[in-house]
Amino acid sequence: MLRFRRVGKRTVCLRAALAGIGLMQRVLIVEDEAAIAESVAYALRRDGFAVDLAASCAEATLALPGAELVILDLMLPDGSGFDLIGRWRRAGARQPVIVLSSRDGEADRVAALETGADDYVTKPFSPREVVARVRAVLRRAGSLPPAVVPASHHALTVDEATRRARVAGQPLELTKVEFELLAALLETPGRVYTRSQLIDRVWGDGFAIGDRTIDSHVKALRRKIGDAGGDASLVETVRGVGYRAAEPGAAAPPGEREP
Ligand code: CA
Repeated sequence: MLRFRRVGKRTVCLRAALAGIGLMQRVLIVEDEAAIAESVAYALRRDGFAVDLAASCAEATLALPGAELVILDLMLPDGSGFDLIGRWRRAGARQPVIVLSSRDGEADRVAALETGADDYVTKPFSPREVVARVRAVLRRAGSLPPAVVPASHHALTVDEATRRARVAGQPLELTKVEFELLAALLETPGRVYTRSQLIDRVWGDGFAIGDRTIDSHVKALRRKIGDAGGDASLVETVRGVGYRAAEPGAAAPPGEREP
């Protein structure tokens, strides 16, 4: 018994030391229901994360700079999580945000993701599921290299690190979903992605997003590329399959390309 206690203590000390020198990933949980916050915090700490807690928008904004990822309840005593994400994104904060909500309608999920959230978990949830999503979101955020596709007339650039897209050096104002779509397509130019692969990539596994939703985001993306002076046909439709980014210098075979 004593031995187990000592091992436990040492583990706690080691974790504290790793957190102190920045080797543990730090998650900020913004949730005013203490029981929910504690259950998620417990699961995250057991899984090796450092955790900070905030119970209001004001506390969350103060704690944000130290966090690598935020778990955010939408209904807080001093405001809405939606507004908070918007304010953080406008201020340039790029930490991934996983929204916790008791509402599970598609409209709310889509609104949260378009506001700048990276994933969405509906209450009640299992803390283990939240930990798995934290890992998946951090993996997506950290492992995506910058991608570049030189086009015949204009260069299209997506930089995951700065979350900026450019056409011929000019900034391209994209929604989060459009940015993620473009980043996915540009990761491997020429590779065809099915709509469901793109949905998994942009929204995360298990989201009930319709194919038409992807199509309308691609349409908007093409329009913005074209409006910025780029070549909108870089984002090619592969009929009956999905989408791909044109390979540098390669024209799509006739019949496969749609306007
Ligand atoms: Ca709440």
